[in-house]
Amino acid sequence: MVKDLVAAQNDFFATQKTKEVAYRKQYLKKLQEEIVAQEDSICDALYADFKKPKFESLATETQLVLAELKYAIKSVKSWSERNHVGASLLNFPSKEWVQPEPYGKVLIISPWNYPFMLSISPLIGALAAGNTAILKPSEFSPNTSKIIAQIIRKVFPPEYVTVVEGGVEASTALLAEKWEYIFFTGSTRVGKIVYKKAAEHLTPVTLELSGKNPCIVDESASIKLAAKRIAWGKFINAGQTCIAPDYILVHKNVKKALVEGLKTNIAGFYGESIEASQDFARITTSKHYEELKAMLKGQQVLFGGNYNDEDQYLEPTLVDEPQLDSTVMEGEVFGPILPIISYADKSELDEYISHYPNSLAFYVFSNTKKFQQRMMQNYSFGGGTINDTVVHITNKALPFGGVGQSGIGGYHGKHTFDLFSHHKAIVQRGNWLDPAIRYAPYNVSLKWIKKLKHFF
Ligand code: NAD
Repeated sequence: MVKDLVAAQNDFFATQKTKEVAYRKQYLKKLQEEIVAQEDSICDALYADFKKPKFESLATETQLVLAELKYAIKSVKSWSERNHVGASLLNFPSKEWVQPEPYGKVLIISPWNYPFMLSISPLIGALAAGNTAILKPSEFSPNTSKIIAQIIRKVFPPEYVTVVEGGVEASTALLAEKWEYIFFTGSTRVGKIVYKKAAEHLTPVTLELSGKNPCIVDESASIKLAAKRIAWGKFINAGQTCIAPDYILVHKNVKKALVEGLKTNIAGFYGESIEASQDFARITTSKHYEELKAMLKGQQVLFGGNYNDEDQYLEPTLVDEPQLDSTVMEGEVFGPILPIISYADKSELDEYISHYPNSLAFYVFSNTKKFQQRMMQNYSFGGGTINDTVVHITNKALPFGGVGQSGIGGYHGKHTFDLFSHHKAIVQRGNWLDPAIRYAPYNVSLKWIKKLKHFF
């Protein structure tokens, strides 16, 4: 079955149809129309999967995708054009340019936490660049996976774009095939499996992975605003956001005020009974739910900590001063648990941050320019925000992705198009001049050849 789909996409790509910009644009528009028509059903599917509030489904899934589509439809023609560069004197007479061209068949594997956006957003760039694609959404968001499959089936012929639903088995079968590009979003553990499979065919990859994102609150920060913005970025999607603040490092002198601010804002956002709030999602998978509950064992809870097994509800929870070797501080916290650790000085702060490999995101709350700069310069991470959380994802001009353990490659906007394009270098020589100097027998003095460096 997978083999047939792959063969059909190979044959279709060979027809050169996807190299026509008008063809790509026509299908991007069809996709746009279908998503607009199905927007409510997509939100319903997300609600069925993990009670995702409709506001969050619109803001962080469908509208983000529609913005990417609008931009791609408007720009695909100019993105696809050849880019002329200054011609080299050594090639005189010549024209020289970079021609973006599609790789061929692309495999996109996505996770369950933003199951619609993280499937369709890379697909838009892959198609704008002229590739064919097979999408493998997560088995843990089955309702969203189903509606993605329906939309794709309605819009595209399967030899152009198709969806393969399923879990590890489906993924493994797909990864056994040869792809021209693989785009994976998910855990670092599975990212390594994908990278190994891709290496067998020297297939280029983008790996959008995870990390433990520090959120630093300096003594000079505007604490009330910091508390509000941290609570928002942490508890949106019930903390199941790859760029959510993972843990707080707060200067000891402002810890009390920050904790109070966080409590006030959580209550302000979700009311007295958070479980009854329509604005707070559930934990999507039972495996992650159990792991999160286990993280709370033996911890000092400053706020929250309640849960309900019936629908995998876990309250926004603040954990006080956990040890670095405790479960909550060992790996990524992919849920509404926020550890808070205080520091006394810069060296202590540095020790905490350096304890972990490159994070995907990095947040600094401070009103001291020097401190902001030092934090942004000294550490390696995917992307970050000063005095807010999460929002660096909203600007399509900024590449979104990790570094080191948190991933390879960045996308969004034109970056996605560039990522899914091979940038072919072309030189077109003129025939009216052909100096003899480069041809053997070499009769030119070596003194002249040593001046070549000025001409490359
Ligand atoms: P996951 O790695 O378990 O699964 C992701 C995808 O890989 C799913 O489609 C799954 O079916 C497939 N998969 C799982 N095991 C596999 C295997 N052994 N072989 C091949 N394929 C396999 O991730 P998840 O639990 O779905 O998502 C949560 C993780 O994703 C978190 O760690 C989060 O930080 C990360 N994430 C990263 C980003 C980003 O943009 N960097 C965005 C969202 C989530």
